[in-house]
Amino acid sequence: MRKNAKEIKIIKSPAALQKFSKKMQAHGKSIGLVPTMGALHKGHASLIEMSAKNNDITIVSIFVNPTQFGANEDFAIYPRRLKADAKLCATAGANIIFAPEPQAMYPLPLQTFVHNPSLEHLYCGKYRPVHFAGVLSVVAKLFNISLPNKAYFGEKDFQQLHLIKKMVQDLNFPIKIIGAKTIREKSGLAISSRNEYMSPKEREAASSIYAGMITAKKCCKGRSTCLLPTELKNIIQKKIQQAGGKIQYIEIVNKNDLMPAKTTKNAVILLACYFGKTRLIDHLEL
Ligand code: AMP
Repeated sequence: MRKNAKEIKIIKSPAALQKFSKKMQAHGKSIGLVPTMGALHKGHASLIEMSAKNNDITIVSIFVNPTQFGANEDFAIYPRRLKADAKLCATAGANIIFAPEPQAMYPLPLQTFVHNPSLEHLYCGKYRPVHFAGVLSVVAKLFNISLPNKAYFGEKDFQQLHLIKKMVQDLNFPIKIIGAKTIREKSGLAISSRNEYMSPKEREAASSIYAGMITAKKCCKGRSTCLLPTELKNIIQKKIQQAGGKIQYIEIVNKNDLMPAKTTKNAVILLACYFGKTRLIDHLEL
């Protein structure tokens, strides 16, 4: 992180940001975009630093997007703290924060959505039916508003990253999507804004997610033939359940198309589970 971070500019109006980005483009400046929902942490900082290193201008969008939350989800209580976020953005090397109000992004209810009917109802989408259409649509809007050359997303949200890459390819967005490694706590727990919903005990127990996936991966490596996906799922499930977690789903999928894997070659574990009331997602390449 940079030590002498300067004041960062906060833009709230989509039209003002689009104007700024067009001006930067006209001056031949490259733009990197890091879309976030705020409550920023080291995982977000890693994306911002990557963008700042490789672009003239780095824009961080901070927007808790209502259209990607289901009716009974945590939209109302999702942590919002723009002042602390601005500090982290400045230190990590961002130039602009785009922090629109929902009214500015959705002056009228959205009627046009980006869908991926093949993938949006699988895995996380099975339990969050409106989520991925909401994500893809807001990311498409953010791309059109901030006009980036590159956009940075975490592998942490593995299915989301895949869907965004596919959208960019299918719809010819002139934007390079960069995926970044998941930043974890020392315990192995993937850092997430939602981790703060957990009690210290739950947080400790949630380290079993990574431990379970690592155990499964090790079992797989130690064998000349790969384990079957069901065997791997059982290993992970046992570890998480022993720690008090409740599994929502565990799937082993091909990392290139996210279709269910028949073997563990080129595969990735995707899972979601609950510790207390907190829903956590994680992944690990095998
Ligand atoms: P969010 O604010 O949770 O929507 O995340 C914004 C971006 O940061 C997404 O592309 C996430 O995948 C990424 N991200 C979240 N947590 C991490 C993490 N622990 N490591 C790396 N990237 C992350």
